[in-house]
Amino acid sequence: MVIVMHSGASREQLDHVVQRVKHLGLKTHITTGKGKSIIGVIGDTTEIDTGTFMPLPGVERVERVSSPYKLASREPNGKLLRSNTVVSVGNVPIGGNDIIIIAGPCAIEGEAQIATIAHAVRGAGANILRGGAFKPRTGPYNFQGLGLSGLEMLQTTGRSVGMPTITEVMSPQQVGLVVQYVDILQIGARNMQNFDLLKEVGKSGKPVMLKRGMAATIDEWLLAAEYILSEGNSKVMLCERGIRTFDDQYSRNVLDVMAVPIVKTLSHLPVLVDPSHGTGRKELVLPGAIAAIVAGADGVMIEVHHDPESARCDSQQALLPEEFKKLMCQLTKVAEAIGRNVCKSY
Ligand code: PEP
Ligand code: MN
Repeated sequence: MVIVMHSGASREQLDHVVQRVKHLGLKTHITTGKGKSIIGVIGDTTEIDTGTFMPLPGVERVERVSSPYKLASREPNGKLLRSNTVVSVGNVPIGGNDIIIIAGPCAIEGEAQIATIAHAVRGAGANILRGGAFKPRTGPYNFQGLGLSGLEMLQTTGRSVGMPTITEVMSPQQVGLVVQYVDILQIGARNMQNFDLLKEVGKSGKPVMLKRGMAATIDEWLLAAEYILSEGNSKVMLCERGIRTFDDQYSRNVLDVMAVPIVKTLSHLPVLVDPSHGTGRKELVLPGAIAAIVAGADGVMIEVHHDPESARCDSQQALLPEEFKKLMCQLTKVAEAIGRNVCKSY
């Protein structure tokens, strides 16, 4: 942390700030140039609020130098840059050179539905099967998911087609149940800052995919990841899924593609992109997925439904199996063009 003094700050004001810093058990290093002094605060400042020093006379501003997300950060204090973390789920390495594809329906609606879609996406080369059993719907009268029976169907189908599975967990109380049925826990956008939930999935030790909240800054997103990591769970991946801006006329959200290279620079964690929720329109899913891969994403998550007209949620953004197959061909070429491959997990 550094404390920058106003150019007109007096010697007494500087000494007073130094005394306050020392009172907190920390050391100081003062640099003075062009009439301005900067106090470097030395020691563990993790629990010290930058606001503590702001009211002191003569203080212009206070800045943190080290990252507040120590475990998620690519640049730990005074050490070498951390290399990319690879989270392995079954035979699918997420965060390495291969790009991984998660696909499946928005929600599990029945045995035949999930089985049909699972066979289709597996046949097209998807690596991980998605499907919601507990759905975070905007209204309480909308389909809320099949709950436990949905989890059972996802597990059975995943095993029969030989694909690892991912589903959303919505509350700390659900974690103990959901971990028994799937390989990856998904934290949805609406729960990105449900800190009790983050701690609980952290304690579970299961791989977790943390979606970005629809109004979350990148720092808030990484601090949410820090909650999971600080419970001792290192298997965390991030997923950009679009943010809310001022124009919702042509797309459901604005896919923040540049968040990918930004987060890849700030953090060692794998970064995925969900262009289905990120755009909310099936015709935008392919351009969104291509942009994500080109921007450096480690994978994409795509919603697929064999009969979107009868889908119980997000029908407007679901790709048909044949459209998904075309997307896979396109993404394979795009990945090759940038020196990566789409993961072949079979
Ligand atoms: C989902 O992936 O099923 C979902 C609800 O996404 P999000 O949390 O990004 O809205
Ligand atoms: Mn959905």
